[in-house]
Amino acid sequence: MNPARLARFHDCARYFICPLCHTELELDGTSLRCPNRHTFDIAKQGYVNLAPAAKQSQFYSKESFANRGRILDAGYYSHIASAVLAAVHAHCPAEPHPAILDAGCGEGFYARAVQQAHPHVDVLAFDISKDSVQQAAREDTSLAVRWFVGNLADLPLRDAAVDCILDVFSPVHYGEFRRVLRPGGIVVKVVPGARHDEQLRELASAQLRHTDYSNEQTVDQFARHFDVMDTRLVSQTFAMPPDDVRVFAHMTPLLFNVDIDTLDLSQISELTIEAQVIVGRDRRTSTPAQRHHVADVVAHDGEVET
Ligand SMILES: [Zn+2]
Repeated sequence: MNPARLARFHDCARYFICPLCHTELELDGTSLRCPNRHTFDIAKQGYVNLAPAAKQSQFYSKESFANRGRILDAGYYSHIASAVLAAVHAHCPAEPHPAILDAGCGEGFYARAVQQAHPHVDVLAFDISKDSVQQAAREDTSLAVRWFVGNLADLPLRDAAVDCILDVFSPVHYGEFRRVLRPGGIVVKVVPGARHDEQLRELASAQLRHTDYSNEQTVDQFARHFDVMDTRLVSQTFAMPPDDVRVFAHMTPLLFNVDIDTLDLSQISELTIEAQVIVGRDRRTSTPAQRHHVADVVAHDGEVET
């Protein structure tokens, strides 16, 4: 394997624990290995699968990730990426060696942008989908992002390992977020704005229970767990060719229950891409207690929100 693709895992003991027995992982050749000899090979693209039993969501195929990658590269989400970078720049604690975790990184668009803008920062990024992590790692020219396949409800990360968590259009698990975040660390959460994809939702209104989309509940729940430092709405409406409209129609979670083939997408020539970027700070000021047993976290304060 290209040694440059391995280099990012040299200090893996700083961040990673075994997903099976929760002990420290060390780099051993081209694998990460725990004291109980559980072994996780680093793939040639430069990621490690720390959730070998994970199942992929039916909504995310290899093809859908390729399509999403094309849409992201076309610039339709650049205003959102800029807002995420600005939030990190303004609020990420200025530790000598800050670490940022992208939770639910998808095809890696935001993790790569953050690594590029902040080369001194350790960026870790995971998704439950192996296909997406594979694509994310393949396109990472920095060779620096620590990509892994991981389970949101049982993260293979040490307690208090990171200073900042990015949660961009992804599910959240507050118990695990608090555990892996250093006291006083921040979470940058990005949720769709009320006008996001409104032209598509309008077109699909006959098949939707609610044409209006509200992120209020999600935002309220976030504010119960973190002190909200900053919130910003970013919105842009793009003229869009039919091929791109079609990809958007298939990739937006707001239309997952809609039969896209029954829609006359030719009626749509522009689309609004809108998001709310919320920055929250962890309220604790001291080091947290020992790692909770995962079952306790899930049972008592774990909330998986989709
Ligand atoms: Zn182990």
